[in-house]
Amino acid sequence: GRKRVEDELAHLSLHDGLTGIPNRAFFLETLRKSVARARRAGSRVAVLLLDLDRFKQVNDRLGHEFGDALLVDVARRLTDGLRAGDFVARLGGDEFVILFENFGHDEHAAGLADKITDVLAPVFRLEGQEVSVSASIGISTFPECGDDAGSLMKTADVAMYRAKESGRNTYHFYSRSVHAEMSRRSQLEADLREAMRQDHFDLEYQPIADLRNGRIAAVEALLRWNHPDHGQVRPLEFIPILEATGLMNRVGEWVLASACAQVKEWQRTLNRPDLGVAVNLSYQQLLHRRIVDQVHRILTNAGLEASMLTVEINEATVLENPRVVREQLQLLAREGVRIALDDFGTGYSSLQAIRQLPLSTIKIDRSLVMSLPTDPEDVAVVDAVLRFAEDLDLEVIAEGVEAQAQLDFLAERGCALGQGYLISPPLPVASVDSFVSTNWRAA
Ligand code: C2E
Ligand code: MG
Ligand code: MG
Repeated sequence: GRKRVEDELAHLSLHDGLTGIPNRAFFLETLRKSVARARRAGSRVAVLLLDLDRFKQVNDRLGHEFGDALLVDVARRLTDGLRAGDFVARLGGDEFVILFENFGHDEHAAGLADKITDVLAPVFRLEGQEVSVSASIGISTFPECGDDAGSLMKTADVAMYRAKESGRNTYHFYSRSVHAEMSRRSQLEADLREAMRQDHFDLEYQPIADLRNGRIAAVEALLRWNHPDHGQVRPLEFIPILEATGLMNRVGEWVLASACAQVKEWQRTLNRPDLGVAVNLSYQQLLHRRIVDQVHRILTNAGLEASMLTVEINEATVLENPRVVREQLQLLAREGVRIALDDFGTGYSSLQAIRQLPLSTIKIDRSLVMSLPTDPEDVAVVDAVLRFAEDLDLEVIAEGVEAQAQLDFLAERGCALGQGYLISPPLPVASVDSFVSTNWRAA
């Protein structure tokens, strides 16, 4: 009767419509009570915030219905796989959260995070498809990371992003060091704005050698920021900030223009009209609707032939949004610019997906090159990439070549081009002339 209906309504407002597990409201209410109890008892509470890795791609690739079915399965695995006392809820989208009470040491919370990882590890079989799912988990604890539900959620979120940044499929505790990192980041952001006003950016150029004859085929422009207090800041640290703050387009345009003008000058002064230049493009730059006009204008101003410029897009960028990235690359390729897939081997793109991109070059990531020639698995992958590239008539560059044994292996397998400290580190402008004109093996 009436009671049933009321129960039903109460259930609906506290549970997630898709998966049937508790929703955000229910979770926050439970967390509030739990924190109040812990405060009285002097005990601890942990919030584990879990975000599925690359769920958006699964959705894009296999459709929303499939995505929904997958979320239902993930919810089921979490509720079935964890202890009855662990309160599991869905916050929305591909975000889940787990409340962990009455634990002593951080290791227990870490143990639960490991358990979650294990529970999600076996492949999901749905509608005749198999997909693997991993998650990035942020952990915050009461009382260390916040003294109410809201701040615990916020700090777990910060920690979750940190887990994403450190390569996904992992967990991260919110801590003062994360906090320190956040404030360093906002300081860097302010400093970057200043750097843009004051021209504190610079480029170095790393030679790319033809492994057969030692000739320098091209140079890759690499962005450098000399911070007035911290000295050189690594691009992997400041480029994400430039991206997040929308400043990357302006810096990227400067990189393109400087690199094209510089290489045109080297082509003339070194009498090397065939010397190419590679420039990295970030996701944001690639998606900019005027990128093709921008590249066209820069090439014209520099007087550089389009085919002398290679833009490098890394695998992570392609995975962000394969369809849109492909469309933008096609427009650039139509300009006559060459396209390289950077850091190949770090993501999970299939060779099939890569086939659909208008590539001229594949750059094999340092992480694969590093374990050559001893690791049989990496040897097999590199071999497969080389064969694939040959079939499609793509150029291959091995990145991060540091040892002679790696180089010998690559050359023997027919990899034409290499880049890495063994050949040369990135060089300041003034040192490039002599390096290029003497060639690497002669030097
Ligand atoms: P990347 O495009 O894959 O560039 C190669 C990176 O590997 C460079 O790091 C280079 O210094 C380093 N490297 C080269 N040879 C070796 C080696 O033998 N061993 C080791 N351990 N490292 C080697 P860098 O300059 O720190 O740049 C890191 C990344 O930052 C670049 O990776 C690229 O993704 C990004 N980046 C750099 N400049 C730009 C830029 O102007 N625009 C954009 N969007 N991204 C850039
Ligand atoms: Mg690159
Ligand atoms: Mg690379």
